[in-house]
Amino acid sequence: MILLNGKETAEAIKKQIAEQVSGMVASGERPPHLVALLVGDNGASRTYVENKERACAAVGFKSTILRYPESISQADLISEVERLNADDGVDGFIIQLPLPGHIDENKIINAVSPDKDVDGFHPVNVGRMCLGEDSFVSATPYGIMLLLEHYGIETSGKHCVVLGRSNIVGRPMANLLSRKAYPGDCTVTMCHSRTVDIAGHTRKADIIVAALGVPEFLKGDMVKEGAVVIDVGITRVPADNDKGYRIVGDVEFDSVAPKCSYITPVPGGVGPMTIVSLMKNTLKARGRR
Ligand code: NAP
Repeated sequence: MILLNGKETAEAIKKQIAEQVSGMVASGERPPHLVALLVGDNGASRTYVENKERACAAVGFKSTILRYPESISQADLISEVERLNADDGVDGFIIQLPLPGHIDENKIINAVSPDKDVDGFHPVNVGRMCLGEDSFVSATPYGIMLLLEHYGIETSGKHCVVLGRSNIVGRPMANLLSRKAYPGDCTVTMCHSRTVDIAGHTRKADIIVAALGVPEFLKGDMVKEGAVVIDVGITRVPADNDKGYRIVGDVEFDSVAPKCSYITPVPGGVGPMTIVSLMKNTLKARGRR
């Protein structure tokens, strides 16, 4: 069993990005600038945004966090999005999800200029990705593709089961793995809460991507020998430590890992790859401008 080390892989990619940025700055250009909009005071969202800010600093990007109260109206948030769309000093921006219940996330995502949509959530980018055109690809599936590529994992003709069909992970993941390219060329099955006999599907899979948000959902007896298992899940479960919680993936690592050819750990697998993919998208946005 080989551990797919997302932390190390992300560091190697970050180094390449940092070199490109220092080249840009040396030739008199300004570095890429990523802005994050954070609404309310959700602890996990704050941690994610601060991690992204740290990653920006590590590669030489400028980054800004804009904080808004939980009570901000949808109209005011859309005005902020429009202001950033028009700001020449901003290359890309992200709106940290989830948003408070009174705000329609789709309306906010649709207001972002597709050229600054480094999260790859705008329908124009999703559509371009589905058509195999140049686009910003949602950071988590993009990071998983980079990880598969980095380890040279064969995907052509493989049966891949994606657990979860969210717009930001499962659905784009299934699409990317079925594209006519490497990594890709898989035969893909997408499972969700209405799927009958999920274990029947996963037991036939060469590659499993688990993105459910159900801690330790995938057990050893649901996986065939030699499978590649990618664990996207991040759930905070109460724990008797300083933080009061620990992070648990969607895969029961101890029973699944011994059967795998490759597996991602949690933490240190998909998480760091997601952040570095956002950095890659931001660099691309800067390049386009
Ligand atoms: P989501 O929007 O809640 O979607 C979850 C998907 O899983 C849905 O399609 C749902 O089915 C399905 N599902 C839930 N429980 C199920 C069950 N018991 N059996 C079968 N299907 C089930 O979640 P998400 O945003 O895709 O995120 C998934 C997980 O990945 C979360 O733990 C999240 O924190 C994590 N995540 C990690 C990263 C990272 O960087 N590592 C990035 C993003 C997300 P229905 O569609 O039928 O409801």
